[in-house]
Order: sequence, then C-alpha cells, then structure tokens
Amino acid sequence: MGALLLPVIARLVGRCANGAERDGGIRSHVLMAEGLGLPSPCYATAICGAKPGRLSNGWEELDGAERPTCSRCERIAARQARELEARR
Ligand SMILES: [Zn+2]
Repeated sequence: MGALLLPVIARLVGRCANGAERDGGIRSHVLMAEGLGLPSPCYATAICGAKPGRLSNGWEELDGAERPTCSRCERIAARQARELEARR
C-alpha cells in the first residue's frame, strides 16, 4: 500500500498555466499530497489536470480553504471522497 494521499487545496502563483486561464491566481485547485502537505516549491498536476506553466512559481497551499473554486477539481474530489467512503 502506498502513502496516504490527502486532498490539498492550492492556487497557482506566478504566471498562469495557459493563456486561457487568466484567473490562474484566483482559481484554486485540488492536489493530492502525502500527509505532510505540498512540497515547496510544488509543480505537481492538479486532479483536474491543471499544472503550473513554464513561468509559474508553482502551487501555494491555501490554508483554511474548504473547497476549490475549480469546478472540475471539486467534482473529482467529491467522487474520490465517495469512493474512499465506500472502501471503508
Ligand atoms: Zn482544477
């Protein structure tokens, strides 16, 4: 069994991953992190597929955030939570 992965809500700092995502600094996504949280800097891929661009400074963990503003991440995280529940 691998390390337990927990969802972490984070936002991108620096430049956006792509030109279409101009709200990159506002939108928060979900990343799966091993217990201790995100490494710093973190250039992992969010569960919706969003990832920092070449000029980005990576992800910054959002303390106190309960849900991502990215609707795709929110949907995927909700489904994963249900699957985890079902496995218990
Ligand atoms: Zn997302």
